[in-house]
Parts: sequence; C-alpha cells; structure tokens
Amino acid sequence: MGEYLVRCPVCGYAQPPHALACQNDDSLLRTEYVARRLTLRDDLPGLWKFFDWLPVKEPLRGVGEKPVTFRSEGLARELGLSRLYISFSGYWPERGARMATCSFKDLEAPPTVERLMERKDGQALVVASAGNTARAFAQAASAAGVPLVLVVPSSGKSRLWTTVPPSESICVVSVMGDYTEAIDLAGRLVGEAGFVGEGGARNVARRDGMGVVVLDAALAMGALPDHYFQAVGSGTGGIAAWEASLRLIGDGRFGSSLPRLHIAQNSPCAPLYAAWTGSAAPQGPCPGGMYDEVLYNRKPPYAVPGGVRDALEETAGTVCSISNGEASVAHQLFEEAEEIDILPAAAVAVAALQRAAASGSVEKKDLILLNITGGGVSRAKEELDMFMLRSDIEAEPSAHTSASEYGLLAEIEEILGRRGPR
Ligand SMILES: *Cc1c(COP(=O)(O)O)cnc(C)c1O
Repeated sequence: MGEYLVRCPVCGYAQPPHALACQNDDSLLRTEYVARRLTLRDDLPGLWKFFDWLPVKEPLRGVGEKPVTFRSEGLARELGLSRLYISFSGYWPERGARMATCSFKDLEAPPTVERLMERKDGQALVVASAGNTARAFAQAASAAGVPLVLVVPSSGKSRLWTTVPPSESICVVSVMGDYTEAIDLAGRLVGEAGFVGEGGARNVARRDGMGVVVLDAALAMGALPDHYFQAVGSGTGGIAAWEASLRLIGDGRFGSSLPRLHIAQNSPCAPLYAAWTGSAAPQGPCPGGMYDEVLYNRKPPYAVPGGVRDALEETAGTVCSISNGEASVAHQLFEEAEEIDILPAAAVAVAALQRAAASGSVEKKDLILLNITGGGVSRAKEELDMFMLRSDIEAEPSAHTSASEYGLLAEIEEILGRRGPR
C-alpha cells in the first residue's frame, strides 16, 4: 500500500524519492507503484481512497476530497453525444463533490503537503500561483500546520480564500506583476536555505494527485475513455491523465488503448498551442486579457522528456486554442445544461468539446471524459465559511535580482518565525 519507486522513464534508473529531475537527463520522473492493480481503500476518505497509487506513506488527515464522475444528460443532449461523462472537481454537494477551494488543485495540494511533512526537515514550502493553487495549498497547509509561502500576482488577491481559518504559518507575498513574475520570484526564494519548492509539473505528488480524475472516471465508466478533454495552462493535468491511463492499462481491467488527449488553451496567449502547431509563441503579458489567468503559463513543460509533447504524441492528441467569445458561449451553455456554476478555465474545455463535436473529431457514440477542473464557487460561498487571506508583503518583481538582497527573505523568515511553529 502506497509503496513506490521514483524512476526516470528515459534512462530507467530509480531516483531518490524526493528528486524533481533525473540525474542523467532532464526528464519528468515517474512513480512506479508496487500495486499493479488499483484497489480502492474504502476505509479512507475522499482522495485517499486512491492511496495505493499516491506517493505518500500516510493520508493527510482533515483534507483531500475526490472529484465526482457522472454521466451527463444536459450537456450531452446539447452537444449530441451519447456517452459523455463529466469529472467535476469543485463544490457540488448534491452530487457528492466537496472540494472546499473548488478546483482540481485540491487534488494536488494534499499529497504534496503530506509528502513534504514526510521529509521531516521543517522546510517552508514555496508555491507560486495565480489563485486556485494558492487556495488549495493554503487549505492543505492550514490542515497540516506546515509553513507555507504563497507568491501570488497582485491581480489574484481577491481569489485568495480558504474555508477554514488560515494557519498562522502562511506568508502571502503579492507581486506587482503577472503569474510568470510570481513564478520567477518564487524560483529565487527556493534557491535559499530553509525553503523548498513544490516543483510544479516535476512533482510526482501533484501529477499523481491530478491523475485521480482519470482513476475515478475509469471506475465510474468501467473503462478508459476514448477521449479526454481539459483546459490547460502548464499541461500538467494532461500529463497526469496520460500517466494515470498507462497505469490503468497496466491494471488490465480498463482496456488497452490510451485515451486521446484533447487539451485546450485560451487564445491569443496559448504557448502550448503555439509549440504544437509551430505558430508564433506569445511573449510577455497577455495583450487581449485572458478568459482565465490560470491558463497562461509562459514556460510549460512541453519538450522535456515525459512532458506535454510526449503525452500528445503517444495519445494522438490535439491542442486547440479557444477565444474568449467561444469560452463565454460554452460557459453559459454548460451552466444552463448542468445547473452548476463553473470556473472560467473549465468553460474553455467545454468550448473545445463543443468544437470537436461540431467538427466530427469526436463521434456521437465515443466514450468521452470532460474534465471540469473547477466549479461550484457560488455554491461554496452560500454554504461554507470564507476566510480571506491578506497579503503580508508587497514585492516589486524587477527590483529583486536576488531574493535575499532586498531583505525580502528576512521579512518572510520573520513572519513565519513570529507566527509559525518552526
Ligand atoms: C490549474 C488549472 C487548470 C490548468 O491545469 P494544468 O496544470 O495546465 O493541467 C485548469 N483549470 C483550472 C480550474 C485550474 O485551476
């Protein structure tokens, strides 16, 4: 149970359990679980039911909900699809979905925080986020009481809330810039003693946590889907879906063909679309404004071995780029057809499916999984307590060539030390 090795898929060598890259090449490392067959742990709550295929020694208590998978009627009818399943990550208690911070980042944060605790070295976790990731990590770190530094672009501040009182050991640094500038600043912090990065796409706990979407869906559908649709920024969710599918093929009960990955980006700022189609990559801040900022990651793990390009090539995948107008139409269509509010990013995936159904690139009878990566915020706001996280430090991105130089580090240390159990 929960026993695994971390292995490089390129050179084949086993790696230290917390490594973020192979020592011989730059590939994304992968977990290899002792259990080849997935046995659901019905004695454990939520996400932890998938304990056999999560890289942790123990479940983290008090946090970790799972997504729900259901067969669509409303949207399926609208799009003329007969076997459309929806994986919903968010808050929708009528369907059994109780992710407090309302996005599938709630699948990544709990295993990541648990793994950090298992290292027992007292380091503070540094997370850069445009909103959803920050909320999920704030929630998980509050449950666990681990020190956390959140680096967020100042535009994302209004999205920073939790449904439990935020722990005293969280320090919020808000950067006057965009998500990429937040990532850069977080990267500089991680170079300092006592701070550890969560590793983004390189972190197996994040990817295997997100992989639960496909595991849960395959159990509900009785098979792997023919097609998987998701809106992406970094594309990590797509890689995770591919890896989870490989594991399910190894299990033997869910079929032997990989689902075709259909990943959707938001035009015009769509670096993965540009890389895949060979068109010009966007530079700098997004000029037209994003439908959802989480979909613009300027440095996605595309060409790295085991990354997005490999996932697309092995699954005969597609990448599309959705305009704000198309996303908005799909957004309304989904909310009316399924009667739940969704996050803007998820509407981009709906638009991609709508396009694929109209163009015939999916057929009526195909088994389709649509990943609704976030939703139910309005429902959550009605029912759950909401605590806003306030920003502790305002930082100018360009002024800091090195994090320690301008005393930023000292300020963070002081805030964590003053409040936290370090
Ligand atoms: C993060 C996020 C995405 C994009 O995820 P990837 O890391 O690119 O797979 C999509 N939707 C929502 C709601 C998100 O929070």
